[in-house]
Amino acid sequence: MVMGLLSEGTPLTWEETKKYADHVRYHGVQQFINLHKRLKDRKGDVLKWGDEVEYVLIRLDPTTQTAKVNLKSLEILELLKEYKNKNEFHPYAWSPEYADFMVEGTPATPYGGTLAHVNTVEANMQLRRQVLRSLMDEQMGEIPLTLTSYPRLGCANSSHPSYEPNPSETSVLNSIFIPDEIICSSHPRFRTFTRNIRKRRGEKICINVPIYKDLNTPSPFIEKFSNDFDGESARVAAVDHIYMDATPFGLCNSCLQMTFQCYSIEEARLLYDQLIPLCPIMMALSAACPFFRGFVSDIDCRWYASVASADDRTAEERGLKELNESKHRIYKSRFDSVDSYLSESSERYNDIDLVIDKDVYKRLIDAGIDQSLARHISHLFIRDSVSIFSEHIHQDDSRDSDHFENIQSTNWQTIRFKPPPVNSTIGWRVEFRPMDVQLTDFENAAYVVFLLLITRIILSFKLDFLMPISKVDANLIEGNKRDAVLNGKFYFRKDVRTCSKDCKSKSADEYALMDINTIINGGPLDGEADVPGIIPLINQYLQSVSIDVDTRYTILAYLNLISDRAAGKLKTTARWMRDYVRQHPDYKHDSVITDKINYDLLTLCNEISKGVHHPEGLLHKVSSRTKVDLPSSLKKQVDQENATILKHEMAMRSKFWPELNNDNNVEAN
Ligand code: ADP
Ligand code: MG
Ligand code: MG
Repeated sequence: MVMGLLSEGTPLTWEETKKYADHVRYHGVQQFINLHKRLKDRKGDVLKWGDEVEYVLIRLDPTTQTAKVNLKSLEILELLKEYKNKNEFHPYAWSPEYADFMVEGTPATPYGGTLAHVNTVEANMQLRRQVLRSLMDEQMGEIPLTLTSYPRLGCANSSHPSYEPNPSETSVLNSIFIPDEIICSSHPRFRTFTRNIRKRRGEKICINVPIYKDLNTPSPFIEKFSNDFDGESARVAAVDHIYMDATPFGLCNSCLQMTFQCYSIEEARLLYDQLIPLCPIMMALSAACPFFRGFVSDIDCRWYASVASADDRTAEERGLKELNESKHRIYKSRFDSVDSYLSESSERYNDIDLVIDKDVYKRLIDAGIDQSLARHISHLFIRDSVSIFSEHIHQDDSRDSDHFENIQSTNWQTIRFKPPPVNSTIGWRVEFRPMDVQLTDFENAAYVVFLLLITRIILSFKLDFLMPISKVDANLIEGNKRDAVLNGKFYFRKDVRTCSKDCKSKSADEYALMDINTIINGGPLDGEADVPGIIPLINQYLQSVSIDVDTRYTILAYLNLISDRAAGKLKTTARWMRDYVRQHPDYKHDSVITDKINYDLLTLCNEISKGVHHPEGLLHKVSSRTKVDLPSSLKKQVDQENATILKHEMAMRSKFWPELNNDNNVEAN
């Protein structure tokens, strides 16, 4: 989970925040209009990109055989700051995250256009892990992990220090499972929007994740909750589900995100669209979240719990009551999948009923913004602000963008279209958000590099992944299921090399149901031509560009991992964790992750992330040739190469994408 904006200040109460909802919306839209006017013609930004990795802080205690979340982010962030001040070599940046046991790390400066940069990603991640580790007290069992979900979140005594949940209306969470102290304390924004999401909703958060029915799991599975004083939990907990009642059950789960800077707004819109159908596929491939609140679930990814955990819609907006006080019937949580493609040329695939704020839409159109973009923004702006700081209420709309960011950054969708920040050298960007984080730096680098290469083949080969967006939503549900990589069937274009716009056929003929192996590795499709496969297309691309030997070696090692995960030759993290629990001597086949199982699992995860244990079936016994920096010979050439690659891509693009209207002579930013 990630925040776009972290402006400090004094948060308003929910009552005050509500009063300013229209104010934030009005000025947020004005800020976007101004920004768009100023920057719509900005062109020539080179590819820059970066990853975001979320770390959880864990405390292993061999005496009690427990692994608890370590509520230390404040102290660790302070230590990281000190470390930065003392060390010149510091190629990473840190920020607070949603939980007090999480921090986020990114490269200090984004990676650049030359492919050699992909060989530095893993080394950068390794350095981040090393420095985190060095600042923690390993003697006390303190460790960082890149673990998507802490398996016993919300179980009694699962944090250090330990706090009791405080189920009362005056607390932030009003949860019978999780104490407020779990939420990040280094910035007031996290607790503020958490409280306001619940207040706006008008009732407690309700997350029901299906339980995995093992041999001895009670059936039906119905829990009795000890401190359920008002009986609400018993009322809303679904039978055969793991019930959770607060935002941290979603937002404490860690993810792996990527951001790409694009040449122009047109290219950003195009890349945004093309990446949409890849979200469910990448989510399923990265599945690493099989456990919730001490139970084995029947889903593999963090996404669904996050959706429900940030659902601030009123009962009216959810369609449970007639519209009276609320303006719109809204079909999705503010944390959910993208609802519309963004390029005008993609419109034929927008087949979901898009709820928009009509006033906002009209203002955008009147300001000369095209329909597709106006629909996108006026859809984001159906939401109210859930956190306002008194210092930021009154702004200069020609210079500030806080109100725009306020709504933008709390629309937690699978992909985010990011305009250039005010007064910066940064261009139009696209952020990819559906992936679960992996245990090792090797895996995280592999997923990141794989996605980077996908963006390159999209732009260089003019690939087309588009299909009706309702089918993408169906895929997201499919991708969430247990072992979706092995058993799931996903809608996907039969041949991504043929462009939808040139296609005379009906859209239903363009795509078919297929498994992830076929999508990634290619192969036959019943009664049809072979599907080309994403990795074979990447290989084709790699043949056409010059790369140094080590980088090529590294890329092949990464693609091997992705390919074998897609083919089921290697397990996803979720499958590997399920198998680990199942063979644990203490496991009673009742879907319960005990303290001891949790301790042993996390101890092993630590050894895997340090590289001292090789998990059979999860990873191959290979390492990459990652390097902290570009090779010195290359470094000299980088500028020149950057230009060459840029030229190469530009040539490809002006050939394939005349509508992008690239201008080769524009200075690169
Ligand atoms: P957010 O929380 O909104 O996602 P962050 O600051 O946490 O924003 O992450 C920004 C990401 O974008 C990082 O991965 C960073 O490396 C990357 N990044 C920074 N500058 C650029 C740029 N000019 N182009 C592309 N990516 C960038
Ligand atoms: Mg992010
Ligand atoms: Mg971030």
